[in-house]
Amino acid sequence: MFDNKDKTNLNELGEFGLIEYLTKQVELTQKSSVKGIGDDAAVLDFSNYKTLISTDLLLENVHFDLRYVPLKHLGYKAIQVNLSDIYAMNGMASQVTISIGLSSKFPLEAVEEIYEGALIACKKYGVDLIGGDTSASTQGLVISVTSIGYAETDKIAYRSAAKEGDLICVSGDLGGAYVGLQLLEREKQIFLENPNIQPDLEGKDYIVERQLKPEARKDIVELLAALEIQPHAMIDVSDGLASEILHICKASNVGCKLYEEKIPIDPMTYETAREFGLDPTVCALSGGEDYELLFTIPQDDYDKVKGQLDISVIGHITEASAGYQMISKSGNVHDIKAQGWNAFKSEE
Ligand code: ADP
Ligand code: MG
Repeated sequence: MFDNKDKTNLNELGEFGLIEYLTKQVELTQKSSVKGIGDDAAVLDFSNYKTLISTDLLLENVHFDLRYVPLKHLGYKAIQVNLSDIYAMNGMASQVTISIGLSSKFPLEAVEEIYEGALIACKKYGVDLIGGDTSASTQGLVISVTSIGYAETDKIAYRSAAKEGDLICVSGDLGGAYVGLQLLEREKQIFLENPNIQPDLEGKDYIVERQLKPEARKDIVELLAALEIQPHAMIDVSDGLASEILHICKASNVGCKLYEEKIPIDPMTYETAREFGLDPTVCALSGGEDYELLFTIPQDDYDKVKGQLDISVIGHITEASAGYQMISKSGNVHDIKAQGWNAFKSEE
């Protein structure tokens, strides 16, 4: 949490002063950005590309908890999770808008930290901040990000385009963000009970980062293009592997067969899940917030992905009547069900 002592009250700047202050260092770098901040609307030109648009709303105490999420990370993550949706269409992100609702408990320095994180993410991913809206809020902090991107018509990967026989692939590893959250929640409880105890997150950097500082997989979109692979269906893993593969299967009217042993799980995720008495596979299937890309590719492209360390082939697409199945490590067949976050919440 931030400390309001000696901080600047937002009223001193006013709305326009705040916008100007926060956006003074913003530069436009994308060819498609014709006009950014400063008029009634931004102006974009995507020539002969299709335009991709995605938006997210983040509410304090619903989507984030300021007791353990640093504001800079919050700004960074707000941008990342949004860009992830553009990459999940196999497109490139080019612009974002950021809208914020601020309650009076936030001084200028707090908002500045959010923007600092957001602008670091924009810069790193080469996207232009082209506008937003700013308002007072009586309900805590509200952040909404809209991202805009582009793709060639025949490169766009819809959820509905998976074909029977396709290989199911996922980038990176899964479950880490959820296990990281468990760790942060545990430390928060300890802190609430005894504020003198400092959080013990030592040696757990990877999974804490997976939760607080996710990275959208722009690199995977670029890698697929370099490997000359046109993914059939693609989605980003925001709610857990189970939920996402079901989205693809239902939209494409196909079934799937996943192999538990092929699901990529980082050793730290695995061990920490075990410490919490959680099944690491369940964390991957139902945890969420990993922001990896889940996609299907034609079988003929297997040779192109097989040497790629950052892409795992975890199963294949079947006909719809075969259902949604996972073969466990011991060879048992399980039906895949979407559980999302609720699977864990109901256990609490
Ligand atoms: P309007 O009254 O027409 O909504 P605003 O005064 O809200 O205009 O916004 C003026 C300019 O500043 C616009 O270009 C808008 O997109 C931009 N802007 C407003 N709030 C933000 C924000 N939080 N982040 C980035 N740009 C913003
Ligand atoms: Mg406005």
